[in-house]
Amino acid sequence: MGLEAALPQDMVLTTQLKKLVNWSRRSSIWPMPFATACCGIELMATASSRYDLARFGAEVMRFSPRQADLMIVAGRVAVKMLPVLQRIYQQMTEPKWVISMGACASTGGIFDTYAVVQGVDQFIPVDVYVPGCPPRPETLMEGVMAIQRIIDNDGIPPKGPDGLRQPLSIAIPGTHAVRPQPVPLTLGET
Ligand code: SF4
Repeated sequence: MGLEAALPQDMVLTTQLKKLVNWSRRSSIWPMPFATACCGIELMATASSRYDLARFGAEVMRFSPRQADLMIVAGRVAVKMLPVLQRIYQQMTEPKWVISMGACASTGGIFDTYAVVQGVDQFIPVDVYVPGCPPRPETLMEGVMAIQRIIDNDGIPPKGPDGLRQPLSIAIPGTHAVRPQPVPLTLGET
């Protein structure tokens, strides 16, 4: 990584154990993708070469909850799926975090029906809300970085007096300006 060249030989670095643990944790977030609908496609794009979620150490999608510490709920959740969502959340390792990605996961979106959960935060603690239908990959990355900042500062998710996990409820503003495609389309030309 070039680190050896940057540091003098036999150099000693001192730091606090808490800082080292937090740095390791925030640099190796392993997401559990709970992708049920179109937002899941945007989640896949976030891990693609163009956006490269690996830059934040968060590209290792785990499909086993016991190996994951960041749940990303991407898409609408049917009432029938809710027990599965809760079970997976419970099985994830501590300390764990939740991102609610898109309008459907956060509010039910346009699916104002009895069969769709009107916001997963009613059933699991949501730390970051990522707006959009669907959110752009950059907005989701903002959500991941918000989690990283929290880990850097505090490390452990807060618990209330009842011992239950307190949601952080951070809302990411949907202000990302879309840039033009780097290569113009030339449809119809030979
Ligand atoms: S928020 Fe929009 S893009 Fe995402 S799952 Fe709902 S309808 Fe699909």
